[in-house]
Amino acid sequence: MSTNGSLKAFEQAQTLIPGGVNSPVRAFASVGGSPIFIDEGQGAYLTDVDGNKYVDYVQSWGPLIFGHRDEAIESAVIEAVKNGLSFGAPTQAETDLAELVVSMFDSIDKIRFVSSGTEAVMSAIRLARGYTGRDDILKFTGCYHGHSDCLLVEAGSGAVTFGNPSSPGVPADFTKHTLLAEYNNIESVKKCFIDSSDIACIIIEPIAGNMGLVPADKEFLHELRKICDENGTLLIFDEVMSGFRASINGVESITGVRPDLVTLGKVIGGGMPVGAFGARSEIMDQLSPEGPVYQAGTLSGNPVTMAAGLAALTKLKKNSQLMSVLNARATRLVEGMKTEAKACGIGMQITTRGSMFGFFLNDTEVKNFADACSCDSDLFAKFHSSMLKEGFYFACSLYETGFISTAITDEIVEDTIKASARVFKEISNG
Ligand SMILES: *Cc1c(COP(=O)(O)O)cnc(C)c1O
Repeated sequence: MSTNGSLKAFEQAQTLIPGGVNSPVRAFASVGGSPIFIDEGQGAYLTDVDGNKYVDYVQSWGPLIFGHRDEAIESAVIEAVKNGLSFGAPTQAETDLAELVVSMFDSIDKIRFVSSGTEAVMSAIRLARGYTGRDDILKFTGCYHGHSDCLLVEAGSGAVTFGNPSSPGVPADFTKHTLLAEYNNIESVKKCFIDSSDIACIIIEPIAGNMGLVPADKEFLHELRKICDENGTLLIFDEVMSGFRASINGVESITGVRPDLVTLGKVIGGGMPVGAFGARSEIMDQLSPEGPVYQAGTLSGNPVTMAAGLAALTKLKKNSQLMSVLNARATRLVEGMKTEAKACGIGMQITTRGSMFGFFLNDTEVKNFADACSCDSDLFAKFHSSMLKEGFYFACSLYETGFISTAITDEIVEDTIKASARVFKEISNG
């Protein structure tokens, strides 16, 4: 398999774009090697610039639940394009997509669309602060909420303390209102509420997908709800990844825990740039022009994006069995790979939620970011590059989630498991 075309393209890109990429994880830095440059996608497959074909388990990091070039989404986009790309004025499609999302999420009465998940979370945090009149926010180590200043705080060890920015360029002053707690550890949350009586919101990925796939315990989420109620704090579920991936009705429908605010993105744009945040009317009506909390966007609710999102969510809503079909495939995939790993003396921890799957090459259960960090990243890097050579495109970091699309058939899943058997043999021998 030659990847000379990708190597050459990457070399040129690096001279013009920092690191050769427009989003860091694409650079393959954590697995070594060089990124594959993509020519086209079709169904379950990606084709690179050298003509190599791969089964795609990344799906643009989540959005493409119907695979590449889904017919309904593609034709909706083409029709929308013919009417014009953007108006900066309202269109019916925005209301239609809003109505669809509201009909599927019990906790959302009103929603506003933006252009990325980062923007959605940033705006939801401002709204929570404006609504409560408080400054502090609480997040969890290992949860990713986009790259806005006050959320770019992870800290190393799950220390429960006011956060330090994890990137140069973020003034410490901007993150001094960000408190950190450990995922699935309620005592660490309680301690934050002793340290501060000014917490506007707790923000959590209720199914964390950015430290590998690590779902929050149901009991933990119930406890968060209780603490929020006792303290007049809002609970934000960041479902930019899990929304319409784990369930079409949100994590609320899985756990029975109702958030005050929900952030969405990825799947709701059908592959176009998108984000959204929603809540009950009383909260959303604080937003400008209805209320005093300012938020805006030139391309927000873009008609082409709305058309793609409408096509995707309409298909999801129509097919109520879809999520369980995708989950059965996801489960078969990780269970099959786990069996093959075990045969080679490699321990594997596996999790699925709907069309999301995760695995850690590790002997013990992963409940939080510290556990995730203790996994064998060298072994993962070997797994990644060998699977790539076999024609399977997995996320290039052990801290990412994998995705099943409707285009990934049972047969493809079985082929993947067989390939993993060869790969585990190879990498366990040295
Ligand atoms: C991807 C993601 C974001 C950021 O969304 P972008 O569209 O990349 O800005 C925020 N939160 C979570 C949970 C995500 O997975």
